Amino acid sequence: MNQGPPPAAEPISKLIQELNKLPGIGPKSAQRLAYYLLRSPEEQARLLAEAILSVKQEITLCSTCFNFTDSDLCPICRSEERDRSKICIVEQPQDILALEHTGVYKGLYHVLHGAISPTEGVGANDVRIRELTSRLQDGSVTEVILGTNPNLEGEQTAMYLNHLISPLGIRVTRLARGLPFGTELEYADDATLTSAIEGRQEF
Ligand SMILES: [Zn+2]
Repeated sequence: MNQGPPPAAEPISKLIQELNKLPGIGPKSAQRLAYYLLRSPEEQARLLAEAILSVKQEITLCSTCFNFTDSDLCPICRSEERDRSKICIVEQPQDILALEHTGVYKGLYHVLHGAISPTEGVGANDVRIRELTSRLQDGSVTEVILGTNPNLEGEQTAMYLNHLISPLGIRVTRLARGLPFGTELEYADDATLTSAIEGRQEF
């Protein structure tokens, strides 16, 4: 069996190697994508390359909720239609996409960019918790919904946040019903997420 690099010209091998670093892209898929791009019009390859570069160059974090945005505030924080008395705390920006897709939640968000995980050395100061507590100071938020993933790290984070937020006199609820333990929010379907938001329970 040939275990070495594919017998391709250097630029092709390099492209395969880079594509192979992407999540969910194994060596076979990387090869297929590379040869597909090689055969496609130059314009298509250019658009792809530009799209990749522009997310890196133009996207920053929202100064309030830490969602990805191309301006100081993300569209959700900017919107006058959102209920500013509720904040749903999620681990990753893509969790917002999943929850927004259901259309049932009208409050604001806060992205932690991770979850507390003592086994992996991730503590409360390594995620955006301090920024969250400063958002809760002015008394305008009356409910915090813990939307961390229903797995070990997500539960540990939810527990930590509950201890932190409950004493402030803010209602703390948890997305729960219908979300099986061990899953991640971004992969949950709309119906499950909708019932998880609507059926949220006191923590
Ligand atoms: Zn925002």
